[in-house]
Amino acid sequence: MPGFELFGDLERKQVNDVLDNGVLMRYGFDGMRNGHWKAKELEAELQNTFQSKHVQLVSSGTAAVSVALASAGVGAGDEVIMPTFTFVASFEAIMMLGAIPILVDIDDTLCLNPKAVEAAITPKTKAIMVVQMCGSMGNMDALQTIATKHNILLVEDACQAIGGTYKGKPLGSIGDLGCFSFDFVKTITCGEGGAVITNNKEYYINADHYSDHGHDHVGNDRGAETHPFLGYNFRISELHAAVGLAQVKRLPEFLEIQKRNFNILQEALSEIPEVTFRTVPEGGVESGAFFNFFLPNLDTVNKVLQGFKENGIDVCWNYFNNNWHYIKEWNHLKDLKSLFPISKEVTDGLEYLKTKDFSKSDEFISRNISCLIKLSWTEQEVRDRAVKMVKVIKASF
Ligand SMILES: *Cc1c(COP(=O)(O)O)cnc(C)c1O
Repeated sequence: MPGFELFGDLERKQVNDVLDNGVLMRYGFDGMRNGHWKAKELEAELQNTFQSKHVQLVSSGTAAVSVALASAGVGAGDEVIMPTFTFVASFEAIMMLGAIPILVDIDDTLCLNPKAVEAAITPKTKAIMVVQMCGSMGNMDALQTIATKHNILLVEDACQAIGGTYKGKPLGSIGDLGCFSFDFVKTITCGEGGAVITNNKEYYINADHYSDHGHDHVGNDRGAETHPFLGYNFRISELHAAVGLAQVKRLPEFLEIQKRNFNILQEALSEIPEVTFRTVPEGGVESGAFFNFFLPNLDTVNKVLQGFKENGIDVCWNYFNNNWHYIKEWNHLKDLKSLFPISKEVTDGLEYLKTKDFSKSDEFISRNISCLIKLSWTEQEVRDRAVKMVKVIKASF
């Protein structure tokens, strides 16, 4: 998935455009800009890419999740349901608002298990946040049905699934709000950056103001603008947006390479009876950012990963003991190791983490191997890699 692999002249040209002009900020300075509005241009491109009416660029994917929730009114004491397998950003973004992350099990999609979601709903639940992990997706119809039934929000974190689709719709565009990251390891990069997408005009206007100190962005005198409500600063800079503008135009090319590489690996491994693949919900098409498969148990997984290492097969992992992506090692969250006092609502609200059983998630995560799909591999390199992977896996039983 890495945008960091492929960047060059197009990105340089866009950045130099900003530097030559000298306005590094996305708002204001209308007289000096000579028509340079990189963030605005990138938002227009992303509307098209993600088939969404509104796009608000922000400073990161974590900011995108927090801004999305804030824009829809999620805050102190509200519960947001999220998966056990994600990136730490998910609970960070929720807790930044004083809301309570409610972690629930995943299933063999490697995303939220709808049954676990339904069981976790309380009168305090304001949103379900599905994280479209490793290029694929949760069962969106089932999750949407639950959200509608309980009249709560469905928010999609599609940071790792840029370019994936469900029933013809881009991932991120299905829920009430969608979130993207353009950090340095995502499918397209700005260096650092993120986006909130929505078809809801009110959420969009809220996101636009909230991410820029509450500025209403009316008129062309920034100092005279009013502040209808409180905001923060989650702005993207023109320099970052310029990189993204070059990258987004290359997305179709990136996705084509990703999918080619993904298909070669999947085809090769499908001849091994002990290997199973994650379930992709009916109507879903993976982005190809990662290739995921299951083995019978953690012992085999460890043996295979050791074999991969010895044979030069890099960028494959198991997440069971990973510090950043799985609940098991999130002791800083379980023990609430915070630099500053955390509200009683959140402290009490997270008590459940000390005792809640996540063995169903353990079962899927411990048996999973997740391989990053690189864009820089040639077709021959992927074919050689596939042959080696099959050999190592077969030798491990
Ligand atoms: C990368 C990522 C984020 C956070 O993005 P940043 O831009 O690094 O803040 C959030 N959620 C998921 C699933 C991610 O992979």
